Amino acid sequence: MRNIVAGNWKSNKLMNEGIELMDAITKGLPTLHKTEVIVAPPAPYLAQFSAQYKAHAVHLSAQQCSEHGHGAHTGEYTAEMLHSSGVTHVIIGHSERRDRFGESFEVVRSKVNQAIGASLHVLLCCGESLEVRESEEHFELISKQLKDALADVDSAKMANITIAYEPVWAIGTGVTASADQAQEMHRFIREQLGNWFNPQVASTTRILYGGSCKPSNAAEIFGQPDVNGGLIGGAALEASSFLSLVAASEAS
Ligand code: PEP
Repeated sequence: MRNIVAGNWKSNKLMNEGIELMDAITKGLPTLHKTEVIVAPPAPYLAQFSAQYKAHAVHLSAQQCSEHGHGAHTGEYTAEMLHSSGVTHVIIGHSERRDRFGESFEVVRSKVNQAIGASLHVLLCCGESLEVRESEEHFELISKQLKDALADVDSAKMANITIAYEPVWAIGTGVTASADQAQEMHRFIREQLGNWFNPQVASTTRILYGGSCKPSNAAEIFGQPDVNGGLIGGAALEASSFLSLVAASEAS
C-alpha cells in the first residue's frame, strides 16, 4: 500500500506564485517508490495546472466540491466538473469547511457521494476540537463523523476513499499530536472500518495524519504502523519542506 503526501494550499498563493511552487515541487521530486504525491491548489488554478503538469507524478486535488450535481447553483463547481478538468482527488470534510462554512454531517455525506459518483478519489477529513478531546469524547466523535460520511459508500467504493485524521487543535497551531496519539486514533479508525465494512477495507484504506506535520516530526509520525502519510497545510507552502515530507514518507 502506497503512502500519500498531500499538500493543501488552502487560500494561499497567487497564480504566478502557485506556478513557481509547482515548478519547484515537480523539479525536486525524487523517483517515487512508495508515495503518491497530491497537491490541492486553489480551485481557479486546477484546470491550467492539470494541463501544465500532466507529465509529472503529482496528482491534483480540489479542496472541496459542491454537494449538488449540475444545475442552478450559482458559484458552485461540481465533482463532475473537477473530474472533467483533469482533477483526480478532492478533500472533503476539512474542519475549516465544517466550522467556518457550516458544512453539516449531511452536507459532507452528499459531497462524498457526489465525488464518488464522479470517479474522484476522496480525502475524507475527520478530527476533534480540543474541547472534545479534553472531555474524552474524541473516539465517539471521529466514529460518528466517519460513519455518517460513509453511510452510502459500499465496500467496493471504499477503494476511492482515503481518510485524514486531523485533530483540530493541531491544525495550523504548531502543536502536533504525539506519534502515540496519532497511532491510537488511526488504529481505532481502522478497527471501525473493519466493523462497518470488512477486514480487507480495514487493512487497505489509507489513513493520513494532518495537523502541524513538518519535516522535524514527519519521520516519527509516518513511521507509525497505522499511519499512511500526511495531509499537510503550512509545510506544503514551501517546496523544500513539502519535498522533505515526501522524502520522510519514502523513508518510512
Ligand atoms: C490542514 O489544514 O489540513 C493542516 C494539516 O494544516 P497544518 O499542516 O498547517 O496544520
